Amino acid sequence: MNLHYKSTRNSNLKVTASEAILTGLAPDGGLFVPEKLPTLDVSMEQLKDMSYQETAYAVMKQFLTDFTEEELKDCIRKAYDSKFDTEEIAPLVKVDDTYYLELFHGATIAFKDMALSILPHLLTTSAKKNHVENEIVILTATSGDTGKAALAGFADVEGTRIIVFYPKNGVSKVQELQMVTQKGSNVDVVAIHGNFDNAQSGVKAMFEDKELAQELAAKGYQFSSANSINIGRLVPQVAYYVNAYAKLLANEEIAEGELINVVVPTGNFGNILAAYYAKQMGVPIDKLICASNKNKVLFDFFQTGTYDKNREFVLTTSPSMDILISSNLERLIYLIAGEDSEKTRELMEELKNSGSYTITENMKAKLSDFASGYSDESETAESIRENYEKTGYVIDTHTAVAAHVCEQYRIKTGDAKKCVIASTASPYKFVKSVMTAIDEKYADADEFELLKVLEETSGVEMPQAIKDILDANILHTLECDADKMKETVKGILQV
Ligand SMILES: *Cc1c(COP(=O)(O)O)cnc(C)c1O
Repeated sequence: MNLHYKSTRNSNLKVTASEAILTGLAPDGGLFVPEKLPTLDVSMEQLKDMSYQETAYAVMKQFLTDFTEEELKDCIRKAYDSKFDTEEIAPLVKVDDTYYLELFHGATIAFKDMALSILPHLLTTSAKKNHVENEIVILTATSGDTGKAALAGFADVEGTRIIVFYPKNGVSKVQELQMVTQKGSNVDVVAIHGNFDNAQSGVKAMFEDKELAQELAAKGYQFSSANSINIGRLVPQVAYYVNAYAKLLANEEIAEGELINVVVPTGNFGNILAAYYAKQMGVPIDKLICASNKNKVLFDFFQTGTYDKNREFVLTTSPSMDILISSNLERLIYLIAGEDSEKTRELMEELKNSGSYTITENMKAKLSDFASGYSDESETAESIRENYEKTGYVIDTHTAVAAHVCEQYRIKTGDAKKCVIASTASPYKFVKSVMTAIDEKYADADEFELLKVLEETSGVEMPQAIKDILDANILHTLECDADKMKETVKGILQV
């Protein structure tokens, strides 16, 4: 059976999985969704004994039906290899009565690696399948995390180049070092004199520049994006939820068919949507608990049915969740609208024009799979400290938002089902906030000194990704003004 993808804003538009991966965003501005959510064709009994890679194949082949077995297995093998510091790839750690699904064992010690280590291979395979002969140039604007994960994913992947723009004074010291020390013959990193919005606008303008596209094509290049709305990022994420459930079963932590809850620290709504897809595939998940930080636009949406981004944007200690427009929510909206692309388009137009929209009562009733909560800054810090004092386990700020929401949910509902918390970053990545939460005396300490302190505190060895940047050479020093990004790209590609 061949599964096609359609746009959330035009159900008549149908493309294959590889076309959806190549295109990223549908031409009408919608997101690609499978025309029918597939189910697993292997039993939990079988999944129990599978490796991460085998599970990933069992899940992904149901979504990417125009890939051959060999192509898909090849992508999986290249993605989930020794770049991860554990063969388990996404280990499930039991702490007290909670299970932490550690998604941070890849090259950049945050969960974006789970998708961005495989996307380059899905993309180059898709290019081959569709007879694209141009070299694919990935352009990314980053406020820190995505840029490094994309660089690490695309580095030295044949048939691709990647150029990342970041705001010169807008990312943390560790984040900047991670990027400017990136190795690979096909990678370029540019610091722009401007903020993240300038970088993002510049990249968007280049994607829409038809003249530039022609000039590039003449030299054998075409642009593509590694954006989180690409279906090629979403599908690989479904695998770790399936794997987590199978592992709970294998470790006899749950009985066959036992329902569990999943708590996800949420920003763009990609990770939690993957959990929802896992549930639709047949994994016995009861509630999908959406955890927000102080930018609680999603919490308010689940409470009221109104999505309203007209509010103050707050900078928090969980910056990867500081988001007011959760792009992937559009895929859920489409589903609860009964796959009505006209209705979805209408609501998204409203969001664009007025910054808010309200779903119908009928749609709201279909959100019963979800629960939501949020954590403010002091609750997040307290969650880190309490967890550490009670159990010795140190969690990062994003994971702490979810841990707090999980606890609140249990108290409020009395729901005693086992909980899996998606643990999205290593505490080493946000060492300053983490150590300051444990003891305020670290508030003024040097970030690099604190890495050692965290190692002693947590008893978890410093990840290779951190050791690497401590003595790596700076390889990228290019800077440009915000209005010179196009010239800079042309210079790099020599067009
Ligand atoms: C990107 C990110 C998130 C948010 O994930 P979404 O899929 O965008 O909801 C949470 N935590 C960390 C550490 C991240 O990097």
